Amino acid sequence: MEKIFENKVAIVTGGSFGIGRASAIAFAQRGAKVVVADWMEDKETVDAIKKSGGEAMFVKCDVSKSADVTSLVDKTIEKYGRLDYALNNAGIEGVSANTIDCTEENWDKTIGVNLKGVWLCMKYEIPQMLKSGKGAIVNIASIAGLVGFPTLPAYVATKHGVVGLTKTAALEFAKQNIRVNAVCPGAIKTPMLDRFTGKKKEAEQQFANMEPIGRLGLPEEVAEAVMWLCSDASSFVTGDAMAVDGAWIAQ
Ligand code: NAP
Repeated sequence: MEKIFENKVAIVTGGSFGIGRASAIAFAQRGAKVVVADWMEDKETVDAIKKSGGEAMFVKCDVSKSADVTSLVDKTIEKYGRLDYALNNAGIEGVSANTIDCTEENWDKTIGVNLKGVWLCMKYEIPQMLKSGKGAIVNIASIAGLVGFPTLPAYVATKHGVVGLTKTAALEFAKQNIRVNAVCPGAIKTPMLDRFTGKKKEAEQQFANMEPIGRLGLPEEVAEAVMWLCSDASSFVTGDAMAVDGAWIAQ
């Protein structure tokens, strides 16, 4: 694979599983040094990258805590000296319950990780990109950032919020050569989806049936969109919320 990210450095939050892991591996395959951040100590992604000859390090980081996020960026600069790309991907689905049954605890926790987490990451990543005069950020939103989903009020609110934050940061830093986009995945086969389906084939098929394309997406297919949005191939694209969703929201 062409090393289009040679000598570049990428942070991936929520990099231990799912879309984050696939994207961390994709960055490394293209030559980037990858900082894999997650709130649980899990070195599998880093080990997989190193085994195939890539460079990566793990940093324990809860994205909802500013001290963790500043330390993540500090450790990145300490080890690799720069930051070129960031995939702000860490997210939780929260507890399913409709708007009147959603608890304050679920609301606060979901907002803390999915929305405050993305803001905190951009707050500390962008200054480093400004230093090198260029950068690209991708925030993982969801089709739930574009349309409503009954029984997921906090999740849907955070993902719509991520789309708004993305557009705002894109406008703020467009002239400084920092592009900020969001990716809005449809139903993707990851541990998060497994929690919705309980890994039951029937439940999985129900999600696949809701996809006009007739199947679930793969984390690697989302990672491909992230790679394109970070690469110079998308140099005129910023402030976009790109659906990678098998046409779910086209319905
Ligand atoms: P996943 O398999 O659950 O992976 C998410 C990763 O983020 C996990 O490693 C998780 O750790 C980590 N994480 C959770 N909270 C964190 C925190 N506070 N700080 C740092 N890391 C944290 O989920 P995924 O499906 O890959 O989802 C990735 C992103 O895509 C999320 O933002 C999700 O909302 C979005 N998305 C997913 C789908 C889908 O169908 N899968 C669709 C649309 C959007 P633990 O596992 O240890 O908690």
